[in-house]
Amino acid sequence: MAHVVFIGLGFGGLYALRQFLDDVPEGTRVTAIDQRDRFVFTPLLYEYLADELEADVVAPSYDTLIPSAEVELIQARVRDLDVQARRVELEDGRTLDFDVLVLAPGSVPSYHGVAGAREHAISFYSFEDADRMRTTLKVRDWAEGGRPACVVGGGVVGVELAFALGEILSREGRTTTGPRVIVLEAMDEILRGLSEGVRRMVRSKMEERGIEVRTSIRVLEVEEQAVRFQNGGEQELEAAVVAWTAGIQPSPLLQSLPVERHGRHGVRVERTLQLPGVPHVFVLGDAISYPGREVGAPLPDTAQAAYQQSDIVARNLRTWLKDGLPRAEYDYGHLGDFVRVSRSEAVADVKGVVLDGGGASLARRAAYLFRMPDWAIRTSAIRQWLS
Ligand SMILES: Cc1cc2nc3c(=O)[nH]c(=O)nc-3n(C[C@H](O)[C@H](O)[C@H](O)COP(=O)(O)OP(=O)(O)OC[C@H]3O[C@@H](n4cnc5c(N)ncnc54)[C@H](O)[C@@H]3O)c2cc1C
Repeated sequence: MAHVVFIGLGFGGLYALRQFLDDVPEGTRVTAIDQRDRFVFTPLLYEYLADELEADVVAPSYDTLIPSAEVELIQARVRDLDVQARRVELEDGRTLDFDVLVLAPGSVPSYHGVAGAREHAISFYSFEDADRMRTTLKVRDWAEGGRPACVVGGGVVGVELAFALGEILSREGRTTTGPRVIVLEAMDEILRGLSEGVRRMVRSKMEERGIEVRTSIRVLEVEEQAVRFQNGGEQELEAAVVAWTAGIQPSPLLQSLPVERHGRHGVRVERTLQLPGVPHVFVLGDAISYPGREVGAPLPDTAQAAYQQSDIVARNLRTWLKDGLPRAEYDYGHLGDFVRVSRSEAVADVKGVVLDGGGASLARRAAYLFRMPDWAIRTSAIRQWLS
């Protein structure tokens, strides 16, 4: 009996698993491992932070998504992997042998060696991070006395988080003497990778909402309620809360794989999403760089990419188990970008067409509804959005 083990049940692993379960070759045993007890629909974490959507939509429990009769679900952290010996070692000391492995452990925040960042800033990557931010906002008398919230990192996550923090602050009627939220970005522009039209529109909405952007900033140190940075000379910014969205790096689990890394990105894989020279291992999501792309032009680390790859992995895994010949090849197709501004507003770039306001917000919700794991969650989301 072939034993297939899935590690990491996020956008790559969970969706590949669920598609694979639609038609499992007879005699296959399936085990799925994640360190957490719930899937996190990360593009909606801001809605959770802003009390717009609840945990059952943004972070549904695996028990509701994975049929226990077909899959042995293990909640544990994987400590090590030996793909040649086909063995997984869990942090609690247990080991599991597999015939085929599907590996999708995602990314972890990267602090670039900045002193105090890991300890004092609140990263915004996981459901636990969003909960920590919610609690901090509730208990801290934040943004009183003119102290703004500070977001380090002006990528899409940092900008959407800045909008959400601004929204919460204005909803609670908190006032500041200066800007409500300050975004610090290392490069000379925010939202690199998005189109000029989207960037311009987002910048003007940030200004309207009292969100200040400072670019070409090198953050030197983070304290609990302050950031020290260089911008010409050294400066210090007192902040009610410091959020960290300044980068990610692939999961440390990839270090044990005997393959080439793509710069600081994920591992190189074949177009069938198999590990070169180790065909019984499929890798997807943030853990891979784009097969066929040049070093320096890696695949974006997005749910969009992981979701597309999950279908290829499910199909190839099935044919690998049946006749050892995976045939589907992955090719990235960029569908569009969304930036949430508020409960009723967004900016969208759908195949080059830039929209804003209520129409963009509806397009964003429709795109995410389509990708939610099942109808029960979609129904809850619609109910919560309409309430
Ligand atoms: C706040 C936020 C907003 C985002 N918004 C968007 C967006 O709007 N659009 C978009 O396309 N992308 C977005 N992304 C990026 C997107 O979330 C990732 O690219 C995507 O989740 C990658 O999928 P994955 O399967 O590789 O990893 P993940 O979805 O992160 O899943 C990895 C899983 O592996 C588990 N895991 C990791 N290590 C171990 C271990 N050692 N043992 C056991 N389990 C382990 C984790 O618990 C997790 O469940 C956003 C990210 C964040 C943080």
